[in-house]
Amino acid sequence: YTGKNRTQLLGESIKKMKVKDFQSLPVVVKDRVSVYDAICTMFLEDVGTLFVVDDASLLAGVVSRKDLLRASIGNQDLNKIPVNIIMTRMPNIAMCRKEDSLYEIAKLLIEKQIDAVPVVKEKGDGYEVIGRVTKTNITKAFVSLLDGE
Ligand code: ADP
Repeated sequence: YTGKNRTQLLGESIKKMKVKDFQSLPVVVKDRVSVYDAICTMFLEDVGTLFVVDDASLLAGVVSRKDLLRASIGNQDLNKIPVNIIMTRMPNIAMCRKEDSLYEIAKLLIEKQIDAVPVVKEKGDGYEVIGRVTKTNITKAFVSLLDGE
């Protein structure tokens, strides 16, 4: 192949990478769990981002490591603070769908300066969380481009 063709082929492979082929399972907590329990869940599930859902199991917010660290500064009783007070909430959540191009989501993570987005599906007047795309998924996708050669 000429250099140009190889570049075009690489571009095509990148555009063919979809969220559904690289997503992980989401880790979800209810909006009334305490900051303390959210910290425990984050450690036990080994993730950096938790998705928060309401009683109808619809996406209500996102809690990151730094959100939990910020809430832990000072002498508050972390058992008494519900995550819904400290989370980033809807409609300010960046999210994606399973058919989306992984490349577009990589750009979204950079633009919004975040580590993860929930993969969602419309349900009633909200969104059900069906997956998770993080910088790790993007890194794995990047490596898979050459692993296939
Ligand atoms: P950390 O805060 O641990 O570095 P992030 O960079 O992902 O993790 O989060 C930065 C801020 O952006 C946090 O306040 C978090 O609540 C928020 N955030 C994280 N993910 C999203 C998202 N998908 N949509 C909107 N806000 C988000």
